[in-house]
Amino acid sequence: MPPNMKQGGRLVVIGGDAAGMSAASRARRVRPDVEIVVLEKGRDVSYAACSLPYYIAGLLHDRSELVARDIEFFRGERQIDVRLGAAVDELLPRKKLVAYQDAATGERTTLEFDALVIATGARAVKPPLPGIDMPGVFTLRTLADGTAIKEEIDAGGVERATIVGAGYVGLEMAEALTARGIEVTVIELLPNVLSTYDPDMGAIVEKELLAKDVILHKDRRVDGFEPGDRSGRVGYVLTGGQRLATDLVIVAIGVRPAVEFAAAAGVDLGAGGAIHVDARQVASDPFVLAAGDCCEAMHVVTRRPVWIPLGTTANKQGRIAGGNAVGGDSRFGGVAGTNVTKIFDLIAAQTGLTETAAAAEGLDADSATITAASRSHAYPGGGRMTVKLVFEKGTGRVLGAQIVGEERVAKRIDVVAAGLHAGMTVADLAQIDMSYAPPFAPVWDPILVAANQARKKAAG
Ligand SMILES: Cc1cc2nc3c(=O)[nH]c(=O)nc-3n(C[C@H](O)[C@H](O)[C@H](O)COP(=O)(O)OP(=O)(O)OC[C@H]3O[C@@H](n4cnc5c(N)ncnc54)[C@H](O)[C@@H]3O)c2cc1C
Repeated sequence: MPPNMKQGGRLVVIGGDAAGMSAASRARRVRPDVEIVVLEKGRDVSYAACSLPYYIAGLLHDRSELVARDIEFFRGERQIDVRLGAAVDELLPRKKLVAYQDAATGERTTLEFDALVIATGARAVKPPLPGIDMPGVFTLRTLADGTAIKEEIDAGGVERATIVGAGYVGLEMAEALTARGIEVTVIELLPNVLSTYDPDMGAIVEKELLAKDVILHKDRRVDGFEPGDRSGRVGYVLTGGQRLATDLVIVAIGVRPAVEFAAAAGVDLGAGGAIHVDARQVASDPFVLAAGDCCEAMHVVTRRPVWIPLGTTANKQGRIAGGNAVGGDSRFGGVAGTNVTKIFDLIAAQTGLTETAAAAEGLDADSATITAASRSHAYPGGGRMTVKLVFEKGTGRVLGAQIVGEERVAKRIDVVAAGLHAGMTVADLAQIDMSYAPPFAPVWDPILVAANQARKKAAG
């Protein structure tokens, strides 16, 4: 059970972004009397990492547009004691103590808590390759990372860039850098881009990249970086010894949960090496809760813990953890891994399991793929979209969907996400009363067309 905090007790939150500030804000709303301290090792709180590619592309003009709420709001209006430059490096759960180092003074402070929320998020994977710390080689995770990349480009002379990793962050950056007039090369270890999608859906995205003049090297690994020459500021070596030069590198090969001090304190880890939590966000110690990218969540399809780090989940889990830390009793409803991303003129979205993931889970899965118009043929504009609906053979239970198309993809994926939470079959999905008018959808929405196809296949 979560702790029932005494009058005037102290909640400490570690991490001041989506999950941490949601937790602190919720706790304040539930308990005006308790002391709330947020320890954030960086210089920013409540920032929108998700908008960094658009900031670098030049769509946002000021860094302040990335900050949802500034620190004065939290300190003043919410009465939250936010301490910046406070990097926690030790947790003593039995003594209910955390210790942190002040980045400015180097001073170490020990702080007692009645309840603790760990919201330390994730960090970008930086492989120990030769030259990885060279100037011109970046990762993109924090506001500081995004600002550094933008400043490098703004300073001029970046004509070519190389992105290592063709996941959604890498591909959003391919678009952002192209928009800045930079020639982009993407290096991907796997044989397909956007590897959380099935290869047939990733192939549609790959065509778009090539159409937009992105140079793509698949099935290739970067083995190291070295000083550049006259043809580029940074050199890099691909498997097999091929040497290439570029002006800027972004390593976007994924993230790992930031759980070092928690693990050292004996807090149990679970899926993906993230902190194990129950539905109330309580970790293995009853006074320690966790939320966001540093912890796992229950998958609504498999009913098993998974680690799918996303901003939507961080906000929801943070809210639940913050309320529960001060005496509430809410439960998190789980994740379907729903996400959407814009890659040049295409939108890719997914929810639930891909066919590949369903097979890996040992499920007897099948799929129906259709391509349809996003609006009525009797209305100008619109575009095409490909919908792949994954379902369980026999029962017809919906397991997931992927959609790649030119517009209104997000509206459709959210319908399937709702279906996953409700445990619908493809026959249920085919019956949904979806909205229709020519400017918005065809009378048979692409989701209904895919569900009907799947229903026929499921019936055998
Ligand atoms: C480029 C990019 C695009 C993205 N796009 C999307 C999107 O479109 N949709 C989506 O849902 N998600 C997206 N995400 C993911 C989303 O940003 C994260 O899921 C979200 O930020 C997680 O929030 P969090 O609070 O759990 O962790 P974080 O945002 O990682 O914040 C954790 C905080 O804890 C601090 N911290 C860590 N360790 C310590 C310590 N020891 N002591 C003190 N402080 C510490 C860190 O400095 C950090 O500020 C994107 C991420 C990136 C990088």
